[in-house]
Amino acid sequence: MNKNLSNIKKSKYLLNKGECIAIPTETVYGLAANAYSNTATSKIFKLKKRPKKNPLIVHYSSLEMLKKDCDLNKNFFKLFKKFSPGPITFVLKIKKNSKISKNVTNNKKTLAIRFPKHSLTRKLLKMLKYPLAAPSANISTKISPVSKEDVKDEFGKKIKFILDGGQSKIGLESTIISLINKPQILRLGGMQTSRINKILKTNLKLSKKNKKIAVPGQGKVHYSPEIPIRLNAIKPKQGEAFILIKKRKLYSKNFYYLSKTNNLKEAAKNLYKTLRMIKKKNFKSIAVEKIPNIGFGEAINDRLIRSSKY
Ligand code: AMP
Ligand code: MG
Repeated sequence: MNKNLSNIKKSKYLLNKGECIAIPTETVYGLAANAYSNTATSKIFKLKKRPKKNPLIVHYSSLEMLKKDCDLNKNFFKLFKKFSPGPITFVLKIKKNSKISKNVTNNKKTLAIRFPKHSLTRKLLKMLKYPLAAPSANISTKISPVSKEDVKDEFGKKIKFILDGGQSKIGLESTIISLINKPQILRLGGMQTSRINKILKTNLKLSKKNKKIAVPGQGKVHYSPEIPIRLNAIKPKQGEAFILIKKRKLYSKNFYYLSKTNNLKEAAKNLYKTLRMIKKKNFKSIAVEKIPNIGFGEAINDRLIRSSKY
């Protein structure tokens, strides 16, 4: 049997038994469990050391299944048609008779949902009779994983299985938009806000309120390599790793480039990988040159600011 198919079948077997496993997505790797099951979803919180109050994103591959759990509205269909499957998460009203575990929503009346694009995970979802609750597969507040090795790095033997889907293509979490009442951007991410605005004919930005408190659980410290980070640096200090946005002729062993050609999408994809690499090299601190605050640069800066709150 094809290796991917046998791995998908193993994933299905473990998930049906109520285990939690890691799955690949185009944004980052997720730590997945049956979203209808209290025992399965509680394992996610335990393994991640995630505060109970921080709700999870639920992953679907079919509208039929989603309709059982959420009220869908016009704005949802507009964005869904254009961007799903893809790096966009919708916050919707949860139905009273939905079977989603209370662990997932922290008893809220809303549910965050997404249609991931990675082909292995889509195949897996299609084989299941339930959607998958899946936050990023890292210990809470640490760097998000973008490969199987990163997930191993986070959990070691504590994780039952990792479905290997190669490196995540986008490398940043999904953009979260609330479609309850007026649309609101709750988190910047892999889908640029400008593209959302075009479809909704609006001019949404991450609101000031959300910049401060962000979405529940997106606390101040997040994505942390656990060493100090200095932003908008012009040059590194002695012993610092230096992250640069584009490749230069100038080269030093402590220089890490996020992109070859000043491409912010490529930079976003390489951000977590680079932070993890630097962390492993035992630098005492990191300097980062100024990243333009446009397009994907906005999401990169958002993550860097949080990771520098260490
Ligand atoms: P992650 O842990 O990377 O999967 O992030 C998931 C994010 O989605 C967290 O910041 C959650 O707070 C947010 N989230 C999940 N459910 C909801 C919801 N119903 N309303 C608002 N934000 C949510
Ligand atoms: Mg996360």
